[in-house]
Amino acid sequence: MSEQTPVIVKVSGPLVVANNMKEAKMYEVVRVGEEGLVGEVIRLEDGHASIQVYEETAGIGPGEKVVLTGQTLSVELGPGLLESIYDGIQRPLATLEEKSGHYLARGVEADGLDQNKKWDFVSSVSVGDRVSEGDVLGTVQETTLILHKVMVPVGIVNANVEKIESGHFNVTEMIARLKDEAGKVHDVSMRQFWPIRIARKMAQKRVPDLPLKTGCRSIDSFFPLVKGGAACIPGPFGSGKTVTQQTLAKYCDAQVIVYIGCGERGNEMTEVLNEFPHLIDPNSGDPLMRRTIMIANTSNMPVAAREASVYTGITIAEFYRDMGYNVALMADSTSRWAEAMREISGRLEEMPGEEGYPAYLGSKTAEFYERAGAVDCLGSDDRQGSLTVIGAVSPPGGDLSEPVSQNTLRVTKTYWGLDAKLAYQRHFPAINWLKSYSLYTPNIERYMKENVAADYWEVRALAMTLLQEESKLEEIVRLVGPDALSFRERLVLLTSKAIREDFLYQDSFNPDDAYTSLDKQYHMLKTIGTLYNTALDALADREEFDFSKLEELSVIQKIARMKEFKNEEIDKFEALQREVATEVAGL
Ligand code: ADP
Repeated sequence: MSEQTPVIVKVSGPLVVANNMKEAKMYEVVRVGEEGLVGEVIRLEDGHASIQVYEETAGIGPGEKVVLTGQTLSVELGPGLLESIYDGIQRPLATLEEKSGHYLARGVEADGLDQNKKWDFVSSVSVGDRVSEGDVLGTVQETTLILHKVMVPVGIVNANVEKIESGHFNVTEMIARLKDEAGKVHDVSMRQFWPIRIARKMAQKRVPDLPLKTGCRSIDSFFPLVKGGAACIPGPFGSGKTVTQQTLAKYCDAQVIVYIGCGERGNEMTEVLNEFPHLIDPNSGDPLMRRTIMIANTSNMPVAAREASVYTGITIAEFYRDMGYNVALMADSTSRWAEAMREISGRLEEMPGEEGYPAYLGSKTAEFYERAGAVDCLGSDDRQGSLTVIGAVSPPGGDLSEPVSQNTLRVTKTYWGLDAKLAYQRHFPAINWLKSYSLYTPNIERYMKENVAADYWEVRALAMTLLQEESKLEEIVRLVGPDALSFRERLVLLTSKAIREDFLYQDSFNPDDAYTSLDKQYHMLKTIGTLYNTALDALADREEFDFSKLEELSVIQKIARMKEFKNEEIDKFEALQREVATEVAGL
Protein backbone atom coordinates (compact mmCIF):
# COMPACT_ATOMS: atom_id res chain seq x y z
CA MET A 1 0.00 0.00 0.00
CA SER A 2 1.38 3.43 -0.85
CA GLU A 3 2.43 5.68 1.99
CA GLN A 4 -0.31 8.13 1.21
CA THR A 5 -3.20 5.70 1.56
CA PRO A 6 -5.03 5.98 4.85
CA VAL A 7 -4.52 2.89 6.99
CA ILE A 8 -5.52 1.85 10.48
CA VAL A 9 -2.80 2.29 13.08
CA LYS A 10 -4.77 1.46 16.20
CA VAL A 11 -8.08 -0.11 17.19
CA SER A 12 -9.55 0.56 20.61
CA GLY A 13 -13.08 -0.77 20.86
CA PRO A 14 -15.36 1.50 18.81
CA LEU A 15 -12.52 3.92 18.20
CA VAL A 16 -10.07 3.48 15.34
CA VAL A 17 -7.09 5.68 14.62
CA ALA A 18 -5.89 5.98 11.02
CA ASN A 19 -2.96 7.84 9.51
CA ASN A 20 -2.54 9.63 6.17
CA MET A 21 -5.86 11.32 6.77
CA LYS A 22 -4.90 14.87 5.73
CA GLU A 23 -7.68 14.88 3.15
CA ALA A 24 -10.35 13.95 5.67
CA LYS A 25 -12.78 16.45 7.17
CA MET A 26 -14.28 16.50 10.64
CA TYR A 27 -17.45 14.39 10.81
CA GLU A 28 -16.73 12.84 7.44
CA VAL A 29 -18.03 9.34 6.96
CA VAL A 30 -15.34 6.78 6.19
CA ARG A 31 -15.33 3.06 5.48
CA VAL A 32 -13.00 1.24 7.81
CA GLY A 33 -11.07 -1.97 7.14
CA GLU A 34 -11.48 -4.61 4.47
CA GLU A 35 -15.12 -5.07 5.44
CA GLY A 36 -15.86 -1.36 4.99
CA LEU A 37 -17.35 -0.68 8.42
CA VAL A 38 -19.16 2.64 8.69
CA GLY A 39 -17.26 5.21 10.75
CA GLU A 40 -17.16 8.95 11.34
CA VAL A 41 -14.12 11.16 11.82
CA ILE A 42 -14.38 12.79 15.25
CA ARG A 43 -10.88 14.16 15.69
CA LEU A 44 -8.15 15.23 13.28
CA GLU A 45 -4.57 15.83 14.34
CA ASP A 46 -1.41 15.93 12.20
CA GLY A 47 -2.89 13.70 9.55
CA HIS A 48 -4.12 11.22 12.12
CA ALA A 49 -7.86 10.75 12.40
CA SER A 50 -9.79 9.29 15.28
CA ILE A 51 -12.77 7.47 13.85
CA GLN A 52 -15.87 6.47 15.75
CA VAL A 53 -17.00 3.19 14.21
CA TYR A 54 -20.68 2.31 14.12
CA GLU A 55 -20.14 -1.39 13.85
CA GLU A 56 -18.41 -4.07 15.88
CA THR A 57 -14.65 -3.64 15.39
CA ALA A 58 -13.51 -7.02 16.67
CA GLY A 59 -11.12 -8.68 14.25
CA ILE A 60 -10.04 -5.61 12.33
CA GLY A 61 -6.52 -4.41 12.91
CA PRO A 62 -3.64 -2.11 12.02
CA GLY A 63 -2.66 -2.00 8.38
CA GLU A 64 -6.18 -2.33 7.01
CA LYS A 65 -7.37 0.41 4.71
CA VAL A 66 -9.67 3.36 5.40
CA VAL A 67 -11.65 4.92 2.57
CA LEU A 68 -12.95 8.50 2.65
CA THR A 69 -16.44 9.13 1.30
CA GLY A 70 -16.43 12.93 1.25
CA GLN A 71 -19.78 12.99 3.01
CA THR A 72 -20.77 13.96 6.53
CA LEU A 73 -22.95 11.63 8.53
CA SER A 74 -26.39 12.45 7.17
CA VAL A 75 -29.90 11.09 7.10
CA GLU A 76 -31.90 10.54 3.96
CA LEU A 77 -35.17 12.43 4.29
CA GLY A 78 -38.28 11.84 2.19
CA PRO A 79 -41.45 9.76 2.00
CA GLY A 80 -41.07 6.31 3.50
CA LEU A 81 -39.58 7.35 6.81
CA LEU A 82 -42.84 6.73 8.64
CA GLU A 83 -43.40 3.13 9.71
CA SER A 84 -39.66 2.50 9.53
CA ILE A 85 -37.54 0.95 12.24
CA TYR A 86 -33.91 2.05 11.96
CA ASP A 87 -30.62 1.46 13.65
CA GLY A 88 -28.63 4.43 14.97
CA ILE A 89 -27.34 5.41 11.53
CA GLN A 90 -30.66 5.07 9.70
CA ARG A 91 -30.23 1.61 8.28
CA PRO A 92 -33.65 -0.10 8.25
CA LEU A 93 -33.50 -3.11 10.56
CA ALA A 94 -35.63 -5.11 8.14
CA THR A 95 -33.14 -4.58 5.30
CA LEU A 96 -30.22 -5.38 7.56
CA GLU A 97 -31.88 -8.59 8.61
CA GLU A 98 -32.67 -9.51 5.03
CA LYS A 99 -29.09 -8.97 4.00
CA SER A 100 -27.38 -10.61 6.92
CA GLY A 101 -29.75 -12.58 9.10
CA HIS A 102 -30.42 -12.04 12.79
CA TYR A 103 -26.80 -11.50 13.72
CA LEU A 104 -25.94 -8.33 11.91
CA ALA A 105 -23.14 -8.79 9.44
CA ARG A 106 -20.76 -5.87 9.16
CA GLY A 107 -20.28 -3.30 6.47
CA VAL A 108 -23.82 -3.79 5.19
CA GLU A 109 -25.04 -0.85 3.19
CA ALA A 110 -28.71 -0.07 3.39
CA ASP A 111 -30.51 3.04 2.20
CA GLY A 112 -32.63 4.90 4.70
CA LEU A 113 -35.46 5.13 2.18
CA ASP A 114 -36.75 2.47 -0.17
CA GLN A 115 -35.26 3.56 -3.49
CA ASN A 116 -37.67 1.61 -5.67
CA LYS A 117 -41.02 2.30 -4.14
CA LYS A 118 -43.14 4.60 -6.29
CA TRP A 119 -45.15 7.35 -4.64
CA ASP A 120 -48.01 9.42 -6.03
CA PHE A 121 -46.65 12.92 -6.12
CA VAL A 122 -49.18 15.73 -6.53
CA SER A 123 -47.58 19.02 -7.43
CA SER A 124 -48.84 22.21 -5.85
CA VAL A 125 -46.83 24.79 -7.81
CA SER A 126 -46.72 25.52 -11.51
CA VAL A 127 -44.07 26.23 -14.09
CA GLY A 128 -43.06 29.87 -13.80
CA ASP A 129 -43.70 30.11 -10.04
CA ARG A 130 -40.99 31.52 -7.79
CA VAL A 131 -39.96 29.27 -4.94
CA SER A 132 -37.44 29.31 -2.14
CA GLU A 133 -36.15 26.93 0.50
CA GLY A 134 -38.93 25.38 2.53
CA ASP A 135 -41.67 26.09 -0.02
CA VAL A 136 -43.89 23.13 -0.67
CA LEU A 137 -43.58 21.81 -4.21
CA GLY A 138 -46.19 19.13 -3.79
CA THR A 139 -47.44 16.35 -1.59
CA VAL A 140 -47.43 12.60 -1.24
CA GLN A 141 -49.87 10.63 0.90
CA GLU A 142 -47.15 8.91 2.87
CA THR A 143 -49.46 6.93 5.14
CA THR A 144 -53.18 7.14 5.83
CA LEU A 145 -52.35 9.55 8.64
CA ILE A 146 -49.69 11.82 7.20
CA LEU A 147 -49.56 13.93 4.08
CA HIS A 148 -45.89 14.30 3.25
CA LYS A 149 -44.87 17.71 1.97
CA VAL A 150 -42.07 17.77 -0.53
CA MET A 151 -40.14 20.94 0.24
CA VAL A 152 -37.58 22.94 -1.70
CA PRO A 153 -34.23 21.92 -0.13
CA VAL A 154 -32.48 24.41 2.10
CA GLY A 155 -30.01 26.54 0.16
CA ILE A 156 -32.18 27.17 -2.91
CA VAL A 157 -33.51 30.72 -2.87
CA ASN A 158 -35.65 32.63 -5.34
CA ALA A 159 -35.74 29.98 -7.99
CA ASN A 160 -37.97 29.71 -10.99
CA VAL A 161 -39.92 26.51 -11.48
CA GLU A 162 -38.82 25.33 -14.93
CA LYS A 163 -40.50 21.98 -14.81
CA ILE A 164 -42.80 20.14 -12.46
CA GLU A 165 -45.12 17.23 -12.89
CA SER A 166 -47.49 15.20 -10.81
CA GLY A 167 -47.05 11.48 -11.20
CA HIS A 168 -45.64 8.24 -10.01
CA PHE A 169 -42.04 8.62 -8.80
CA ASN A 170 -39.52 6.95 -6.57
CA VAL A 171 -37.49 9.07 -4.18
CA THR A 172 -34.52 9.46 -6.49
CA GLU A 173 -36.39 10.56 -9.60
CA MET A 174 -36.64 14.23 -10.47
CA ILE A 175 -39.98 15.81 -9.68
CA ALA A 176 -39.06 19.42 -10.37
CA ARG A 177 -36.39 21.45 -12.11
CA LEU A 178 -35.63 24.78 -10.46
CA LYS A 179 -33.39 27.54 -11.75
CA ASP A 180 -32.08 30.00 -9.21
CA GLU A 181 -31.17 33.66 -9.72
CA ALA A 182 -27.58 32.82 -10.48
CA GLY A 183 -28.82 30.62 -13.30
CA LYS A 184 -27.93 27.41 -11.54
CA VAL A 185 -30.25 24.52 -12.28
CA HIS A 186 -31.39 22.23 -9.47
CA ASP A 187 -33.06 18.94 -10.25
CA VAL A 188 -35.09 18.23 -7.17
CA SER A 189 -36.26 14.78 -6.14
CA MET A 190 -38.46 13.82 -3.21
CA ARG A 191 -35.51 13.04 -0.99
CA GLN A 192 -32.91 15.25 0.56
CA PHE A 193 -29.95 14.67 2.86
CA TRP A 194 -29.20 16.50 6.08
CA PRO A 195 -26.16 16.19 8.39
CA ILE A 196 -27.43 14.83 11.68
CA ARG A 197 -25.31 16.94 13.99
CA ILE A 198 -26.66 20.22 12.65
CA ALA A 199 -30.14 21.50 13.52
CA ARG A 200 -32.38 21.94 10.48
CA LYS A 201 -33.11 25.45 9.43
CA MET A 202 -36.37 27.21 10.27
CA ALA A 203 -37.66 30.76 9.97
CA GLN A 204 -37.84 31.44 13.71
CA LYS A 205 -38.68 29.98 17.07
CA ARG A 206 -41.93 31.07 18.69
CA VAL A 207 -42.91 31.07 22.32
CA PRO A 208 -44.79 27.78 22.74
CA ASP A 209 -48.35 28.40 23.92
CA LEU A 210 -50.26 25.18 23.30
CA PRO A 211 -50.34 22.27 25.70
CA LEU A 212 -49.17 18.88 24.51
CA LYS A 213 -52.21 16.89 25.50
CA THR A 214 -51.03 13.56 26.77
CA GLY A 215 -54.14 12.23 28.48
CA CYS A 216 -52.02 11.52 31.54
CA ARG A 217 -53.74 13.34 34.38
CA SER A 218 -50.67 13.90 36.50
CA ILE A 219 -48.88 15.44 33.54
CA ASP A 220 -51.60 17.50 31.87
CA SER A 221 -53.12 18.92 35.02
CA PHE A 222 -50.13 19.33 37.29
CA PHE A 223 -46.90 19.26 35.31
CA PRO A 224 -47.87 20.15 31.76
CA LEU A 225 -45.70 20.06 28.70
CA VAL A 226 -46.17 22.33 25.71
CA LYS A 227 -45.93 21.59 22.01
CA GLY A 228 -42.32 22.51 21.37
CA GLY A 229 -41.19 22.01 24.96
CA ALA A 230 -38.61 19.74 26.49
CA ALA A 231 -39.20 17.37 29.38
CA CYS A 232 -37.08 15.08 31.45
CA ILE A 233 -38.23 11.86 33.12
CA PRO A 234 -35.61 10.66 35.52
CA GLY A 235 -36.31 7.56 37.53
CA PRO A 236 -34.59 4.52 38.92
CA PHE A 237 -34.89 1.14 37.31
CA GLY A 238 -38.47 -0.16 37.29
CA SER A 239 -40.12 3.14 38.14
CA GLY A 240 -41.99 3.40 34.85
CA LYS A 241 -39.86 5.42 32.42
CA THR A 242 -40.47 3.13 29.49
CA VAL A 243 -44.16 2.68 30.20
CA THR A 244 -44.58 6.46 30.49
CA GLN A 245 -42.70 7.12 27.25
CA GLN A 246 -44.71 4.52 25.40
CA THR A 247 -48.00 5.76 26.80
CA LEU A 248 -47.08 9.27 25.67
CA ALA A 249 -46.10 7.96 22.24
CA LYS A 250 -49.46 6.30 21.99
CA TYR A 251 -51.79 8.99 23.29
CA CYS A 252 -50.18 12.43 23.04
CA ASP A 253 -51.64 14.75 20.45
CA ALA A 254 -48.50 15.09 18.36
CA GLN A 255 -49.05 14.11 14.74
CA VAL A 256 -45.72 12.38 14.26
CA ILE A 257 -43.75 10.38 16.82
CA VAL A 258 -40.06 9.57 16.74
CA TYR A 259 -39.15 6.98 19.33
CA ILE A 260 -35.50 6.37 20.11
CA GLY A 261 -34.92 3.34 22.25
CA CYS A 262 -31.65 2.58 23.95
CA GLY A 263 -32.62 -0.46 25.96
CA GLU A 264 -31.45 -0.82 29.51
CA ARG A 265 -31.68 -4.55 29.57
CA GLY A 266 -30.80 -6.67 26.57
CA ASN A 267 -34.32 -7.71 25.72
CA GLU A 268 -36.12 -4.49 26.55
CA MET A 269 -35.78 -3.02 23.11
CA THR A 270 -36.96 -6.28 21.63
CA GLU A 271 -40.15 -5.96 23.68
CA VAL A 272 -40.71 -2.49 22.30
CA LEU A 273 -39.99 -3.69 18.78
CA ASN A 274 -42.43 -6.53 19.10
CA GLU A 275 -45.11 -4.48 20.73
CA PHE A 276 -45.11 -1.18 18.88
CA PRO A 277 -46.06 -2.43 15.43
CA HIS A 278 -49.25 -3.88 16.92
CA LEU A 279 -50.37 -0.75 18.73
CA ILE A 280 -53.38 1.10 17.42
CA ASP A 281 -53.65 4.87 17.31
CA PRO A 282 -56.59 5.57 19.61
CA ASN A 283 -57.65 8.62 17.60
CA SER A 284 -57.75 7.18 14.11
CA GLY A 285 -57.97 3.45 14.77
CA ASP A 286 -55.05 2.98 12.37
CA PRO A 287 -51.80 1.27 13.34
CA LEU A 288 -49.71 3.64 15.42
CA MET A 289 -46.68 3.01 13.22
CA ARG A 290 -48.31 5.05 10.46
CA ARG A 291 -47.32 8.14 12.36
CA THR A 292 -44.21 6.72 13.99
CA ILE A 293 -40.54 6.27 13.24
CA MET A 294 -38.48 4.10 15.52
CA ILE A 295 -34.77 4.13 16.10
CA ALA A 296 -33.68 1.03 17.92
CA ASN A 297 -30.41 0.40 19.62
CA THR A 298 -30.49 -3.24 20.49
CA SER A 299 -27.93 -4.50 22.95
CA ASN A 300 -25.79 -6.12 20.26
CA MET A 301 -25.21 -2.75 18.58
CA PRO A 302 -21.99 -0.92 19.37
CA VAL A 303 -21.94 2.17 21.58
CA ALA A 304 -21.07 4.59 18.80
CA ALA A 305 -24.33 3.82 17.03
CA ARG A 306 -26.11 4.77 20.22
CA GLU A 307 -24.26 8.06 20.28
CA ALA A 308 -25.43 8.80 16.73
CA SER A 309 -28.98 7.56 17.20
CA VAL A 310 -30.26 10.58 19.10
CA TYR A 311 -29.06 12.87 16.30
CA THR A 312 -30.50 10.65 13.60
CA GLY A 313 -33.83 10.68 15.45
CA ILE A 314 -34.00 14.38 16.09
CA THR A 315 -33.08 15.27 12.50
CA ILE A 316 -35.92 13.11 11.19
CA ALA A 317 -38.22 14.73 13.76
CA GLU A 318 -37.20 18.21 12.60
CA PHE A 319 -37.96 17.24 9.01
CA TYR A 320 -41.63 16.57 9.85
CA ARG A 321 -41.72 19.69 12.02
CA ASP A 322 -40.60 21.58 8.92
CA MET A 323 -43.63 20.25 7.06
CA GLY A 324 -45.76 21.97 9.68
CA TYR A 325 -46.52 19.04 11.95
CA ASN A 326 -46.46 18.75 15.70
CA VAL A 327 -43.80 16.17 16.33
CA ALA A 328 -42.85 14.49 19.58
CA LEU A 329 -39.57 12.73 20.13
CA MET A 330 -39.06 10.27 22.95
CA ALA A 331 -35.58 9.16 23.89
CA ASP A 332 -35.36 6.25 26.31
CA SER A 333 -32.92 6.45 27.94
CA THR A 334 -30.57 9.33 27.32
CA SER A 335 -28.27 7.97 30.04
CA ARG A 336 -27.23 5.26 27.58
CA TRP A 337 -26.38 7.99 25.08
CA ALA A 338 -24.28 9.83 27.67
CA GLU A 339 -22.52 6.60 28.57
CA ALA A 340 -21.66 6.08 24.93
CA MET A 341 -20.16 9.58 24.86
CA ARG A 342 -18.21 8.76 27.99
CA GLU A 343 -16.80 5.60 26.51
CA ILE A 344 -15.70 7.27 23.29
CA SER A 345 -14.24 10.22 25.17
CA GLY A 346 -12.29 7.83 27.39
CA ARG A 347 -10.85 6.08 24.39
CA LEU A 348 -9.90 9.43 22.89
CA GLU A 349 -8.03 9.98 26.16
CA GLU A 350 -9.78 13.29 26.70
CA MET A 351 -9.60 14.95 30.08
CA PRO A 352 -12.54 13.50 31.98
CA GLY A 353 -15.06 15.70 33.78
CA GLU A 354 -17.41 14.67 36.55
CA GLU A 355 -17.77 10.91 37.02
CA GLY A 356 -15.69 10.29 33.93
CA TYR A 357 -18.17 11.95 31.57
CA PRO A 358 -16.57 14.29 29.06
CA ALA A 359 -16.46 17.96 29.99
CA TYR A 360 -18.72 18.71 27.02
CA LEU A 361 -21.57 16.52 28.34
CA GLY A 362 -23.43 19.67 29.39
CA SER A 363 -23.10 21.45 26.08
CA LYS A 364 -24.02 18.34 24.07
CA THR A 365 -27.09 17.79 26.24
CA ALA A 366 -28.11 21.42 25.86
CA GLU A 367 -27.58 21.35 22.10
CA PHE A 368 -29.80 18.31 21.83
CA TYR A 369 -32.70 19.67 23.87
CA GLU A 370 -32.43 23.08 22.23
CA ARG A 371 -33.47 21.46 18.99
CA ALA A 372 -36.94 21.27 20.54
CA GLY A 373 -39.19 24.22 19.88
CA ALA A 374 -42.34 25.68 18.40
CA VAL A 375 -41.34 27.23 15.10
CA ASP A 376 -42.37 29.22 12.09
CA CYS A 377 -41.26 26.93 9.29
CA LEU A 378 -39.25 27.99 6.30
CA GLY A 379 -41.47 28.66 3.32
CA SER A 380 -43.94 31.27 2.24
CA ASP A 381 -47.16 29.59 3.40
CA ASP A 382 -46.82 30.51 7.09
CA ARG A 383 -46.62 26.92 8.28
CA GLN A 384 -46.00 26.39 11.93
CA GLY A 385 -44.63 23.24 13.44
CA SER A 386 -43.30 22.03 16.72
CA LEU A 387 -40.87 19.52 18.07
CA THR A 388 -41.34 18.34 21.63
CA VAL A 389 -38.54 16.35 23.20
CA ILE A 390 -39.07 13.98 26.10
CA GLY A 391 -35.94 12.37 27.44
CA ALA A 392 -35.84 9.64 30.05
CA VAL A 393 -32.82 9.54 32.30
CA SER A 394 -31.82 6.54 34.39
CA PRO A 395 -29.57 7.76 37.18
CA PRO A 396 -27.79 4.88 38.88
CA GLY A 397 -29.53 4.21 42.18
CA GLY A 398 -31.99 7.01 41.42
CA ASP A 399 -29.45 9.60 42.58
CA LEU A 400 -30.26 12.82 40.74
CA SER A 401 -27.03 14.54 41.65
CA GLU A 402 -25.21 12.58 38.95
CA PRO A 403 -24.07 14.54 35.87
CA VAL A 404 -26.56 13.29 33.25
CA SER A 405 -29.59 14.16 35.40
CA GLN A 406 -28.12 17.50 36.41
CA ASN A 407 -27.28 18.54 32.88
CA THR A 408 -30.67 17.46 31.62
CA LEU A 409 -32.56 19.28 34.36
CA ARG A 410 -30.69 22.43 33.50
CA VAL A 411 -32.09 22.54 29.96
CA THR A 412 -35.55 20.97 30.24
CA LYS A 413 -38.40 22.94 31.71
CA THR A 414 -40.62 20.06 32.71
CA TYR A 415 -39.48 17.51 35.21
CA TRP A 416 -41.48 14.39 35.95
CA GLY A 417 -39.61 12.77 38.79
CA LEU A 418 -40.42 9.08 39.02
CA ASP A 419 -40.30 7.75 42.51
CA ALA A 420 -39.16 4.26 43.48
CA LYS A 421 -41.35 4.32 46.58
CA LEU A 422 -44.51 5.12 44.63
CA ALA A 423 -43.67 2.46 42.04
CA TYR A 424 -43.14 -0.02 44.87
CA GLN A 425 -46.60 0.88 46.22
CA ARG A 426 -47.88 0.38 42.66
CA HIS A 427 -49.01 3.99 42.48
CA PHE A 428 -48.71 4.67 38.75
CA PRO A 429 -47.65 6.84 37.08
CA ALA A 430 -45.05 7.09 39.83
CA ILE A 431 -44.61 10.82 39.22
CA ASN A 432 -43.75 12.42 42.54
CA TRP A 433 -46.25 15.27 42.90
CA LEU A 434 -44.21 17.12 45.50
CA LYS A 435 -40.93 17.18 43.60
CA SER A 436 -41.96 17.39 39.96
CA TYR A 437 -42.46 20.70 38.22
CA SER A 438 -43.29 22.41 34.97
CA LEU A 439 -42.10 25.87 34.08
CA TYR A 440 -44.51 25.96 31.15
CA THR A 441 -47.68 26.73 33.09
CA PRO A 442 -47.55 30.47 32.26
CA ASN A 443 -47.33 29.54 28.56
CA ILE A 444 -50.68 27.79 28.58
CA GLU A 445 -52.46 29.98 31.08
CA ARG A 446 -54.62 31.58 28.47
CA TYR A 447 -55.27 28.45 26.49
CA MET A 448 -56.60 26.59 29.52
CA LYS A 449 -58.78 29.49 30.62
CA GLU A 450 -60.29 29.93 27.20
CA ASN A 451 -60.58 26.31 26.15
CA VAL A 452 -61.14 24.35 29.34
CA ALA A 453 -62.66 26.55 32.05
CA ALA A 454 -62.50 30.12 33.30
CA ASP A 455 -61.66 28.90 36.80
CA TYR A 456 -59.23 26.24 35.55
CA TRP A 457 -56.24 27.60 37.41
CA GLU A 458 -58.06 28.08 40.71
CA VAL A 459 -59.31 24.50 40.62
CA ARG A 460 -55.84 23.19 39.86
CA ALA A 461 -54.18 25.40 42.48
CA LEU A 462 -56.53 24.12 45.19
CA ALA A 463 -55.71 20.51 44.28
CA MET A 464 -51.98 21.13 44.39
CA THR A 465 -52.23 22.99 47.69
CA LEU A 466 -54.19 20.13 49.21
CA LEU A 467 -51.47 17.66 48.22
CA GLN A 468 -48.78 19.85 49.70
CA GLU A 469 -50.69 20.31 52.93
CA GLU A 470 -51.26 16.59 53.12
CA SER A 471 -47.55 15.89 53.15
CA LYS A 472 -47.13 18.18 56.15
CA LEU A 473 -50.11 16.76 57.99
CA GLU A 474 -48.95 13.21 57.50
CA GLU A 475 -46.05 13.95 59.77
CA ILE A 476 -48.37 15.15 62.54
CA VAL A 477 -50.61 12.13 62.08
CA ARG A 478 -47.60 9.86 62.41
CA LEU A 479 -46.66 11.51 65.69
CA VAL A 480 -49.98 12.08 67.45
CA GLY A 481 -52.66 10.29 65.42
CA PRO A 482 -55.58 11.74 63.43
CA ASP A 483 -57.65 12.75 66.47
CA ALA A 484 -55.45 15.75 67.13
CA LEU A 485 -56.36 17.26 63.77
CA SER A 486 -58.88 20.02 63.25
CA PHE A 487 -61.91 19.58 61.00
CA ARG A 488 -60.22 21.42 58.19
CA GLU A 489 -57.10 19.31 58.49
CA ARG A 490 -59.09 16.10 58.36
CA LEU A 491 -60.89 17.45 55.32
CA VAL A 492 -57.54 18.12 53.69
CA LEU A 493 -56.55 14.50 54.25
CA LEU A 494 -59.85 13.21 52.91
CA THR A 495 -59.76 15.27 49.75
CA SER A 496 -56.05 14.88 49.06
CA LYS A 497 -56.47 11.12 49.33
CA ALA A 498 -59.15 11.42 46.65
CA ILE A 499 -56.77 13.41 44.49
CA ARG A 500 -54.07 10.78 44.82
CA GLU A 501 -56.19 7.69 44.47
CA ASP A 502 -59.05 8.82 42.28
CA PHE A 503 -57.25 11.33 40.10
CA LEU A 504 -53.48 10.84 40.00
CA TYR A 505 -53.52 7.06 39.97
CA GLN A 506 -53.94 6.06 36.35
CA ASP A 507 -53.49 2.67 34.81
CA SER A 508 -51.76 2.89 31.44
CA PHE A 509 -52.73 -0.64 30.64
CA ASN A 510 -56.45 -0.07 31.03
CA PRO A 511 -57.68 1.38 27.72
CA ASP A 512 -60.60 3.10 29.46
CA ASP A 513 -58.34 4.85 31.93
CA ALA A 514 -55.17 5.44 29.94
CA TYR A 515 -56.36 8.64 28.23
CA THR A 516 -58.27 11.43 29.96
CA SER A 517 -59.33 14.54 28.08
CA LEU A 518 -58.48 17.96 29.52
CA ASP A 519 -62.18 18.63 30.16
CA LYS A 520 -62.58 15.44 32.12
CA GLN A 521 -59.40 16.11 34.09
CA TYR A 522 -60.69 19.53 35.04
CA HIS A 523 -64.04 18.17 36.10
CA MET A 524 -62.49 15.40 38.18
CA LEU A 525 -60.54 18.00 40.12
CA LYS A 526 -63.51 20.34 40.24
CA THR A 527 -65.61 17.60 41.83
CA ILE A 528 -63.05 16.97 44.54
CA GLY A 529 -62.63 20.72 44.98
CA THR A 530 -66.40 21.07 45.38
CA LEU A 531 -66.32 18.52 48.17
CA TYR A 532 -63.59 20.47 49.93
CA ASN A 533 -65.15 23.90 49.48
CA THR A 534 -68.72 23.00 50.35
CA ALA A 535 -67.69 20.96 53.38
CA LEU A 536 -65.48 23.74 54.62
CA ASP A 537 -68.25 26.31 54.18
CA ALA A 538 -71.00 24.26 55.74
CA LEU A 539 -69.28 22.34 58.48
CA ALA A 540 -66.12 24.01 59.67
CA ASP A 541 -67.89 26.07 62.33
CA ARG A 542 -69.98 23.24 63.74
CA GLU A 543 -69.03 22.20 67.16
CA GLU A 544 -68.62 18.49 67.81
CA PHE A 545 -69.04 17.43 64.19
CA ASP A 546 -68.70 13.70 63.69
CA PHE A 547 -66.24 13.50 60.80
CA SER A 548 -67.20 9.95 59.92
CA LYS A 549 -70.56 11.25 58.70
CA LEU A 550 -68.74 13.06 55.95
CA GLU A 551 -66.59 10.06 55.15
CA GLU A 552 -69.64 7.87 54.81
CA LEU A 553 -71.46 10.06 52.31
CA SER A 554 -72.38 8.16 49.17
CA VAL A 555 -70.80 10.86 47.01
CA ILE A 556 -67.39 9.85 48.38
CA GLN A 557 -67.89 6.44 46.79
CA LYS A 558 -69.05 8.06 43.60
CA ILE A 559 -65.92 10.24 43.48
CA ALA A 560 -63.84 7.08 43.81
CA ARG A 561 -65.50 5.77 40.66
CA MET A 562 -65.74 8.97 38.64
CA LYS A 563 -62.78 8.01 36.46
CA GLU A 564 -65.15 5.49 34.88
CA PHE A 565 -67.17 8.32 33.33
CA LYS A 566 -66.27 8.68 29.70
CA ASN A 567 -64.37 11.68 28.39
CA GLU A 568 -67.52 13.01 26.74
CA GLU A 569 -69.75 12.51 29.78
CA ILE A 570 -69.14 15.92 31.27
CA ASP A 571 -72.80 16.20 32.28
CA LYS A 572 -72.27 13.30 34.70
CA PHE A 573 -69.56 15.30 36.43
CA GLU A 574 -71.76 18.36 36.66
CA ALA A 575 -74.50 16.25 38.19
CA LEU A 576 -72.06 14.75 40.66
CA GLN A 577 -70.82 18.18 41.68
CA ARG A 578 -74.41 19.23 42.42
CA GLU A 579 -74.95 16.04 44.35
CA VAL A 580 -71.84 16.66 46.42
CA ALA A 581 -73.09 20.12 47.34
CA THR A 582 -76.55 18.84 48.25
CA GLU A 583 -75.34 15.91 50.34
CA VAL A 584 -72.85 18.02 52.24
CA ALA A 585 -75.47 20.69 52.91
CA GLY A 586 -77.80 18.01 54.24
CA LEU A 587 -75.44 16.93 57.00
P1 ADP B 1 -38.25 1.62 33.80
O1 ADP B 1 -38.26 1.91 32.32
O2 ADP B 1 -38.18 2.89 34.61
O3 ADP B 1 -37.21 0.64 34.22
P2 ADP B 1 -40.80 0.39 33.27
O4 ADP B 1 -41.37 1.47 32.43
O5 ADP B 1 -40.29 -0.81 32.57
O6 ADP B 1 -39.65 0.97 34.21
O7 ADP B 1 -41.92 0.01 34.34
C1 ADP B 1 -41.80 -1.07 35.24
C2 ADP B 1 -43.16 -1.67 35.54
O8 ADP B 1 -43.99 -0.76 36.27
C3 ADP B 1 -43.98 -1.99 34.32
O9 ADP B 1 -43.71 -3.26 33.82
C4 ADP B 1 -45.41 -1.90 34.82
O10 ADP B 1 -45.81 -3.10 35.42
C5 ADP B 1 -45.36 -0.86 35.88
N1 ADP B 1 -45.86 0.46 35.42
C6 ADP B 1 -45.09 1.54 35.14
N2 ADP B 1 -45.85 2.61 34.78
C7 ADP B 1 -47.13 2.19 34.80
C8 ADP B 1 -48.39 2.81 34.53
N3 ADP B 1 -48.49 4.11 34.14
N4 ADP B 1 -49.51 2.07 34.67
C9 ADP B 1 -49.44 0.77 35.08
N5 ADP B 1 -48.29 0.14 35.34
C10 ADP B 1 -47.14 0.81 35.22
